[in-house]
Amino acid sequence: MTDQQPIEAGGAIHVDGAQGEGGGQVLRSSLALSRITGRPVIIERIRAGRDKPGLMRAHLTAVEAAAAISGAAVEGAEVGSGRIAFTPGQIRAGAHAFSIGTAGSGTLVLQTILPALLVAPGPSTVTIEGGTHNPWAPTFDFLDRVYLPLVRRMGPAVTATLQRHGFFPAGGGRFHVAVEPCGGLAGIDLLEHGAVIARRVRALVSNLPAGIGEREVRRVIGRLSWAPDCGRTDTVVAHGPGNVVEVEIEATGLTERFTAFGRTGTSAERVADELVGEVRDHLALGAPVGCYLADQLLLPLGISAWLPAVGGRPRGGAFRTGPLSRHATTHIDVLRQFLGVRIEVAPEPDGRVCLVRVSPPL
Ligand code: ATP
Repeated sequence: MTDQQPIEAGGAIHVDGAQGEGGGQVLRSSLALSRITGRPVIIERIRAGRDKPGLMRAHLTAVEAAAAISGAAVEGAEVGSGRIAFTPGQIRAGAHAFSIGTAGSGTLVLQTILPALLVAPGPSTVTIEGGTHNPWAPTFDFLDRVYLPLVRRMGPAVTATLQRHGFFPAGGGRFHVAVEPCGGLAGIDLLEHGAVIARRVRALVSNLPAGIGEREVRRVIGRLSWAPDCGRTDTVVAHGPGNVVEVEIEATGLTERFTAFGRTGTSAERVADELVGEVRDHLALGAPVGCYLADQLLLPLGISAWLPAVGGRPRGGAFRTGPLSRHATTHIDVLRQFLGVRIEVAPEPDGRVCLVRVSPPL
Protein backbone atom coordinates (compact mmCIF):
# COMPACT_ATOMS: atom_id res chain seq x y z
CA MET A 1 0.00 0.00 0.00
CA THR A 2 1.25 3.46 -0.78
CA ASP A 3 0.73 4.62 2.79
CA GLN A 4 3.78 2.57 3.68
CA GLN A 5 6.01 4.64 1.39
CA PRO A 6 8.12 7.08 3.42
CA ILE A 7 7.20 10.67 2.58
CA GLU A 8 10.77 11.83 2.69
CA ALA A 9 11.90 9.17 0.19
CA GLY A 10 13.82 11.08 -2.46
CA GLY A 11 12.67 14.62 -1.41
CA ALA A 12 10.49 16.96 -3.45
CA ILE A 13 9.96 16.50 -7.16
CA HIS A 14 10.17 19.70 -9.25
CA VAL A 15 7.71 19.83 -12.13
CA ASP A 16 7.77 22.41 -14.90
CA GLY A 17 4.10 23.16 -15.59
CA ALA A 18 5.09 24.69 -18.93
CA GLN A 19 6.44 21.41 -20.30
CA GLY A 20 4.89 19.90 -23.42
CA GLU A 21 1.34 21.10 -23.76
CA GLY A 22 1.66 23.31 -20.67
CA GLY A 23 -1.97 22.71 -19.59
CA GLY A 24 -3.92 21.59 -16.57
CA GLN A 25 -3.12 17.90 -16.94
CA VAL A 26 0.48 18.37 -15.79
CA LEU A 27 -0.87 19.88 -12.57
CA ARG A 28 -3.57 17.27 -11.97
CA SER A 29 -1.39 14.26 -12.65
CA SER A 30 1.44 15.68 -10.56
CA LEU A 31 -0.94 16.05 -7.61
CA ALA A 32 -2.20 12.49 -8.05
CA LEU A 33 1.31 11.07 -8.35
CA SER A 34 2.63 13.08 -5.44
CA ARG A 35 0.13 11.37 -3.15
CA ILE A 36 0.67 7.93 -4.73
CA THR A 37 4.44 8.11 -4.27
CA GLY A 38 4.33 10.09 -1.01
CA ARG A 39 6.82 12.57 -2.58
CA PRO A 40 6.25 16.31 -2.09
CA VAL A 41 5.99 18.20 -5.37
CA ILE A 42 6.74 21.77 -6.39
CA ILE A 43 4.98 22.76 -9.61
CA GLU A 44 6.08 25.97 -11.31
CA ARG A 45 4.90 27.85 -14.41
CA ILE A 46 1.47 26.22 -14.01
CA ARG A 47 -0.50 26.17 -17.30
CA ALA A 48 2.07 28.49 -18.88
CA GLY A 49 0.98 27.22 -22.30
CA ARG A 50 -2.55 28.61 -21.92
CA ASP A 51 -3.97 32.06 -22.69
CA LYS A 52 -4.86 32.59 -19.03
CA PRO A 53 -2.01 30.82 -17.21
CA GLY A 54 -2.02 29.81 -13.56
CA LEU A 55 -4.71 28.12 -11.50
CA MET A 56 -8.27 28.70 -12.62
CA ARG A 57 -11.16 27.92 -10.28
CA ALA A 58 -11.47 24.25 -11.33
CA HIS A 59 -7.71 23.67 -11.05
CA LEU A 60 -7.76 25.23 -7.59
CA THR A 61 -10.57 22.86 -6.59
CA ALA A 62 -8.42 19.98 -7.85
CA VAL A 63 -5.57 21.21 -5.62
CA GLU A 64 -7.89 21.59 -2.62
CA ALA A 65 -9.47 18.19 -3.21
CA ALA A 66 -6.07 16.53 -3.55
CA ALA A 67 -4.97 18.22 -0.31
CA ALA A 68 -8.14 17.17 1.55
CA ILE A 69 -7.93 13.50 0.61
CA SER A 70 -4.23 13.30 1.34
CA GLY A 71 -3.93 15.52 4.42
CA ALA A 72 -1.45 17.65 2.46
CA ALA A 73 0.20 20.96 3.33
CA VAL A 74 -0.07 23.33 0.34
CA GLU A 75 1.51 26.68 -0.49
CA GLY A 76 0.31 28.87 -3.35
CA ALA A 77 -3.24 27.51 -3.61
CA GLU A 78 -5.10 30.54 -4.98
CA VAL A 79 -6.71 31.53 -8.26
CA GLY A 80 -4.07 32.81 -10.69
CA SER A 81 -1.18 31.17 -8.85
CA GLY A 82 1.62 29.91 -11.09
CA ARG A 83 3.43 27.92 -8.40
CA ILE A 84 2.35 25.49 -5.71
CA ALA A 85 4.24 23.39 -3.20
CA PHE A 86 2.29 20.28 -2.19
CA THR A 87 3.41 17.97 0.63
CA PRO A 88 1.13 14.95 0.97
CA GLY A 89 0.29 13.20 4.24
CA GLN A 90 -1.71 10.00 4.76
CA ILE A 91 -4.57 9.16 2.38
CA ARG A 92 -7.93 9.86 4.02
CA ALA A 93 -10.57 7.34 3.06
CA GLY A 94 -14.16 8.31 3.99
CA ALA A 95 -16.78 10.79 2.81
CA HIS A 96 -15.60 13.80 0.81
CA ALA A 97 -17.46 16.63 -0.96
CA PHE A 98 -16.04 19.33 -3.24
CA SER A 99 -17.73 22.23 -4.99
CA ILE A 100 -15.98 23.97 -7.88
CA GLY A 101 -18.22 27.04 -7.70
CA THR A 102 -18.11 27.52 -11.50
CA ALA A 103 -18.93 25.30 -14.48
CA GLY A 104 -15.36 23.91 -14.37
CA SER A 105 -15.17 20.19 -15.02
CA GLY A 106 -16.03 17.94 -12.08
CA THR A 107 -14.78 14.82 -13.86
CA LEU A 108 -11.28 16.28 -14.10
CA VAL A 109 -11.34 17.04 -10.36
CA LEU A 110 -12.39 13.44 -9.74
CA GLN A 111 -9.59 12.07 -11.93
CA THR A 112 -7.10 14.02 -9.78
CA ILE A 113 -8.16 12.34 -6.53
CA LEU A 114 -9.34 8.95 -7.76
CA PRO A 115 -5.87 7.34 -7.92
CA ALA A 116 -5.27 7.93 -4.21
CA LEU A 117 -8.76 6.74 -3.28
CA LEU A 118 -8.23 3.57 -5.34
CA VAL A 119 -5.32 2.58 -3.10
CA ALA A 120 -6.65 4.10 0.14
CA PRO A 121 -6.81 1.99 3.33
CA GLY A 122 -10.65 1.88 3.18
CA PRO A 123 -13.72 2.77 1.10
CA SER A 124 -14.61 6.37 0.20
CA THR A 125 -17.41 8.41 -1.27
CA VAL A 126 -16.98 11.68 -3.15
CA THR A 127 -19.61 14.22 -4.18
CA ILE A 128 -18.53 16.85 -6.70
CA GLU A 129 -20.48 19.94 -7.76
CA GLY A 130 -19.64 21.86 -10.93
CA GLY A 131 -19.73 21.03 -14.62
CA THR A 132 -20.67 17.49 -15.64
CA HIS A 133 -20.81 18.03 -19.42
CA ASN A 134 -18.04 20.40 -20.48
CA PRO A 135 -16.34 20.84 -23.83
CA TRP A 136 -12.63 19.88 -23.62
CA ALA A 137 -13.16 17.48 -20.71
CA PRO A 138 -14.63 13.99 -20.23
CA THR A 139 -18.41 14.19 -19.81
CA PHE A 140 -19.97 12.42 -16.84
CA ASP A 141 -21.16 9.73 -19.27
CA PHE A 142 -17.63 9.23 -20.61
CA LEU A 143 -16.45 8.79 -17.03
CA ASP A 144 -19.28 6.41 -16.17
CA ARG A 145 -19.43 4.34 -19.37
CA VAL A 146 -15.82 4.35 -20.61
CA TYR A 147 -13.27 5.25 -17.92
CA LEU A 148 -14.67 3.69 -14.74
CA PRO A 149 -15.45 0.27 -16.31
CA LEU A 150 -11.74 0.05 -17.18
CA VAL A 151 -10.74 1.07 -13.67
CA ARG A 152 -13.05 -1.67 -12.33
CA ARG A 153 -11.26 -4.19 -14.54
CA MET A 154 -8.10 -3.23 -12.66
CA GLY A 155 -9.67 -4.47 -9.41
CA PRO A 156 -11.30 -1.69 -7.32
CA ALA A 157 -15.10 -1.33 -7.21
CA VAL A 158 -16.02 2.20 -8.37
CA THR A 159 -19.48 3.44 -9.23
CA ALA A 160 -20.69 6.91 -10.25
CA THR A 161 -24.18 8.38 -10.04
CA LEU A 162 -25.24 11.59 -11.76
CA GLN A 163 -27.48 13.67 -9.51
CA ARG A 164 -27.87 16.80 -11.67
CA HIS A 165 -26.52 17.79 -15.07
CA GLY A 166 -24.24 20.81 -15.21
CA PHE A 167 -23.53 22.32 -18.64
CA PHE A 168 -21.01 25.01 -19.47
CA PRO A 169 -21.34 27.94 -18.72
CA ALA A 170 -24.04 27.68 -16.00
CA GLY A 171 -22.59 24.67 -14.15
CA GLY A 172 -24.50 23.57 -11.05
CA GLY A 173 -24.20 19.85 -11.78
CA ARG A 174 -23.52 17.20 -9.16
CA PHE A 175 -22.38 13.59 -9.12
CA HIS A 176 -21.51 11.04 -6.50
CA VAL A 177 -18.79 8.39 -6.65
CA ALA A 178 -18.25 5.38 -4.38
CA VAL A 179 -14.82 3.73 -4.29
CA GLU A 180 -13.86 0.41 -2.72
CA PRO A 181 -10.15 -0.36 -3.06
CA CYS A 182 -8.84 -3.90 -3.45
CA GLY A 183 -5.25 -3.50 -2.27
CA GLY A 184 -3.72 -2.36 -5.58
CA LEU A 185 -4.33 -1.96 -9.29
CA ALA A 186 -3.95 -4.87 -11.69
CA GLY A 187 -2.73 -4.25 -15.22
CA ILE A 188 -4.96 -4.40 -18.31
CA ASP A 189 -4.42 -4.79 -22.03
CA LEU A 190 -6.70 -3.10 -24.56
CA LEU A 191 -5.53 -4.35 -27.91
CA GLU A 192 -8.75 -5.03 -29.85
CA HIS A 193 -12.30 -3.62 -29.94
CA GLY A 194 -13.82 -7.08 -29.96
CA ALA A 195 -17.34 -7.66 -31.28
CA VAL A 196 -19.78 -4.74 -31.20
CA ILE A 197 -22.55 -5.32 -28.65
CA ALA A 198 -24.47 -2.05 -29.07
CA ARG A 199 -24.35 1.31 -30.84
CA ARG A 200 -26.05 4.22 -29.12
CA VAL A 201 -26.65 7.84 -30.08
CA ARG A 202 -27.96 10.06 -27.32
CA ALA A 203 -28.65 13.77 -27.25
CA LEU A 204 -29.29 15.77 -24.09
CA VAL A 205 -31.02 19.13 -24.01
CA SER A 206 -31.71 21.38 -21.06
CA ASN A 207 -33.72 24.60 -21.26
CA LEU A 208 -33.73 24.31 -25.06
CA PRO A 209 -36.22 22.79 -27.53
CA ALA A 210 -36.04 18.98 -27.64
CA GLY A 211 -36.11 19.32 -31.45
CA ILE A 212 -32.42 20.31 -31.38
CA GLY A 213 -31.45 16.95 -29.92
CA GLU A 214 -33.85 15.07 -32.17
CA ARG A 215 -32.32 16.66 -35.28
CA GLU A 216 -28.81 15.79 -34.07
CA VAL A 217 -29.75 12.17 -33.39
CA ARG A 218 -31.53 11.82 -36.74
CA ARG A 219 -28.56 13.24 -38.61
CA VAL A 220 -25.97 11.07 -36.82
CA ILE A 221 -27.98 7.90 -37.36
CA GLY A 222 -28.67 8.75 -41.00
CA ARG A 223 -25.06 9.50 -41.86
CA LEU A 224 -23.71 6.43 -40.05
CA SER A 225 -26.52 4.25 -41.53
CA TRP A 226 -27.35 2.89 -38.09
CA ALA A 227 -30.76 1.53 -37.01
CA PRO A 228 -33.19 4.30 -35.91
CA ASP A 229 -33.87 2.55 -32.61
CA CYS A 230 -30.30 3.16 -31.38
CA GLY A 231 -31.05 6.88 -30.97
CA ARG A 232 -32.61 8.78 -28.09
CA THR A 233 -33.10 12.40 -26.98
CA ASP A 234 -33.55 13.27 -23.31
CA THR A 235 -34.64 16.59 -21.88
CA VAL A 236 -32.86 17.08 -18.56
CA VAL A 237 -33.12 19.58 -15.72
CA ALA A 238 -30.08 21.85 -15.32
CA HIS A 239 -29.36 25.43 -14.26
CA GLY A 240 -28.84 26.80 -17.74
CA PRO A 241 -29.18 25.90 -21.40
CA GLY A 242 -27.18 22.94 -22.58
CA ASN A 243 -26.98 20.50 -25.47
CA VAL A 244 -24.68 17.60 -26.10
CA VAL A 245 -24.86 14.63 -28.45
CA GLU A 246 -22.82 11.50 -27.81
CA VAL A 247 -22.14 8.27 -29.67
CA GLU A 248 -21.30 5.15 -27.74
CA ILE A 249 -19.90 1.96 -29.26
CA GLU A 250 -20.06 -0.86 -26.75
CA ALA A 251 -17.88 -3.81 -27.71
CA THR A 252 -16.56 -6.89 -25.95
CA GLY A 253 -13.06 -5.33 -25.72
CA LEU A 254 -14.15 -1.94 -24.36
CA THR A 255 -16.74 0.80 -24.73
CA GLU A 256 -15.74 4.05 -26.49
CA ARG A 257 -17.71 7.27 -26.52
CA PHE A 258 -17.53 10.42 -28.64
CA THR A 259 -19.04 13.81 -27.91
CA ALA A 260 -20.07 17.02 -29.66
CA PHE A 261 -21.53 20.10 -27.99
CA GLY A 262 -24.31 22.27 -29.34
CA ARG A 263 -23.56 25.99 -29.31
CA THR A 264 -25.14 29.25 -30.36
CA GLY A 265 -24.70 29.96 -34.06
CA THR A 266 -24.01 26.33 -35.04
CA SER A 267 -26.83 24.23 -36.48
CA ALA A 268 -27.81 20.91 -34.93
CA GLU A 269 -26.81 19.26 -38.22
CA ARG A 270 -23.35 20.80 -38.12
CA VAL A 271 -22.84 19.60 -34.52
CA ALA A 272 -23.98 16.12 -35.59
CA ASP A 273 -21.58 16.18 -38.56
CA GLU A 274 -18.65 16.99 -36.26
CA LEU A 275 -19.54 13.96 -34.19
CA VAL A 276 -19.92 11.73 -37.24
CA GLY A 277 -16.47 12.81 -38.45
CA GLU A 278 -14.93 11.87 -35.12
CA VAL A 279 -16.68 8.48 -35.03
CA ARG A 280 -15.72 7.66 -38.63
CA ASP A 281 -12.09 8.58 -37.99
CA HIS A 282 -12.05 6.29 -34.99
CA LEU A 283 -13.67 3.37 -36.79
CA ALA A 284 -11.37 3.77 -39.79
CA LEU A 285 -8.32 3.66 -37.53
CA GLY A 286 -8.99 0.10 -36.36
CA ALA A 287 -7.53 0.69 -32.86
CA PRO A 288 -9.75 0.29 -29.82
CA VAL A 289 -8.61 3.29 -27.75
CA GLY A 290 -9.56 6.80 -28.86
CA CYS A 291 -7.29 9.79 -28.41
CA TYR A 292 -8.93 11.12 -25.21
CA LEU A 293 -9.12 7.76 -23.51
CA ALA A 294 -5.46 7.21 -24.44
CA ASP A 295 -4.22 10.16 -22.41
CA GLN A 296 -6.53 9.35 -19.48
CA LEU A 297 -5.58 5.66 -19.33
CA LEU A 298 -1.91 6.46 -18.91
CA LEU A 299 -2.35 7.51 -15.27
CA PRO A 300 -3.96 4.30 -13.88
CA LEU A 301 -1.71 2.13 -16.05
CA GLY A 302 1.39 3.98 -14.86
CA ILE A 303 0.33 3.60 -11.23
CA SER A 304 -0.45 -0.09 -11.78
CA ALA A 305 3.05 -0.59 -13.20
CA TRP A 306 4.62 1.18 -10.21
CA LEU A 307 2.66 -0.50 -7.40
CA PRO A 308 3.36 -4.05 -6.22
CA ALA A 309 1.42 -6.75 -8.11
CA VAL A 310 -2.11 -7.66 -6.94
CA GLY A 311 -2.73 -11.40 -6.51
CA GLY A 312 -0.12 -12.36 -9.09
CA ARG A 313 -1.82 -10.33 -11.87
CA PRO A 314 0.43 -8.42 -14.28
CA ARG A 315 1.26 -4.75 -13.63
CA GLY A 316 0.84 -1.89 -16.14
CA GLY A 317 -0.48 -2.95 -19.52
CA ALA A 318 -0.75 -2.03 -23.15
CA PHE A 319 -3.23 -0.45 -25.53
CA ARG A 320 -3.53 0.28 -29.24
CA THR A 321 -4.51 3.79 -30.25
CA GLY A 322 -4.04 6.40 -32.99
CA PRO A 323 -1.24 8.97 -33.12
CA LEU A 324 -0.66 10.27 -29.60
CA SER A 325 -1.86 13.79 -28.81
CA ARG A 326 0.54 16.33 -27.35
CA HIS A 327 -1.54 15.89 -24.25
CA ALA A 328 -0.66 12.20 -24.07
CA THR A 329 3.05 12.71 -24.72
CA THR A 330 3.17 15.36 -22.00
CA HIS A 331 1.42 12.95 -19.66
CA ILE A 332 3.99 10.25 -20.45
CA ASP A 333 6.81 12.62 -19.46
CA VAL A 334 5.13 13.38 -16.11
CA LEU A 335 4.60 9.67 -15.38
CA ARG A 336 8.21 8.85 -16.20
CA GLN A 337 9.42 11.68 -13.96
CA PHE A 338 7.42 10.56 -10.91
CA LEU A 339 7.34 6.79 -11.24
CA GLY A 340 10.29 5.77 -13.38
CA VAL A 341 7.94 3.37 -15.19
CA ARG A 342 8.79 2.36 -18.74
CA ILE A 343 6.44 3.63 -21.43
CA GLU A 344 7.16 2.51 -24.97
CA VAL A 345 5.29 3.83 -27.99
CA ALA A 346 5.71 1.56 -31.02
CA PRO A 347 4.12 2.63 -34.32
CA GLU A 348 2.53 -0.21 -36.29
CA PRO A 349 3.44 -0.67 -39.98
CA ASP A 350 0.48 1.43 -41.22
CA GLY A 351 2.12 4.41 -39.48
CA ARG A 352 -1.09 5.59 -37.81
CA VAL A 353 -1.88 3.06 -35.08
CA CYS A 354 0.60 2.70 -32.27
CA LEU A 355 1.03 0.25 -29.43
CA VAL A 356 1.61 1.92 -26.07
CA ARG A 357 3.08 -0.36 -23.43
CA VAL A 358 3.46 0.68 -19.78
CA SER A 359 5.80 -1.57 -17.76
CA PRO A 360 7.23 -1.57 -14.22
CA PRO A 361 10.50 0.26 -13.62
CA LEU A 362 13.61 -1.85 -14.25
P1 ATP B 1 -6.26 23.71 -19.62
O1 ATP B 1 -5.64 23.03 -20.75
O2 ATP B 1 -6.96 24.98 -19.91
O3 ATP B 1 -5.34 23.78 -18.51
P2 ATP B 1 -7.88 21.71 -18.51
O4 ATP B 1 -7.24 21.79 -17.20
O5 ATP B 1 -9.35 21.77 -18.55
O6 ATP B 1 -7.43 22.76 -19.43
P3 ATP B 1 -6.54 19.76 -20.18
O7 ATP B 1 -5.17 19.77 -19.63
O8 ATP B 1 -6.74 20.31 -21.55
O9 ATP B 1 -7.48 20.39 -19.18
O10 ATP B 1 -7.16 18.27 -20.14
C1 ATP B 1 -8.41 17.95 -20.65
C2 ATP B 1 -8.72 16.46 -20.42
O11 ATP B 1 -10.05 16.24 -20.92
C3 ATP B 1 -7.85 15.46 -21.14
O12 ATP B 1 -7.55 14.37 -20.30
C4 ATP B 1 -8.70 14.97 -22.32
O13 ATP B 1 -8.48 13.61 -22.65
C5 ATP B 1 -10.09 15.12 -21.76
N1 ATP B 1 -11.06 15.37 -22.85
C6 ATP B 1 -11.15 16.47 -23.64
N2 ATP B 1 -12.16 16.33 -24.55
C7 ATP B 1 -12.71 15.11 -24.33
C8 ATP B 1 -13.77 14.37 -24.93
N3 ATP B 1 -14.48 14.86 -25.96
N4 ATP B 1 -14.06 13.14 -24.45
C9 ATP B 1 -13.36 12.63 -23.42
N5 ATP B 1 -12.35 13.28 -22.79
C10 ATP B 1 -12.02 14.50 -23.24
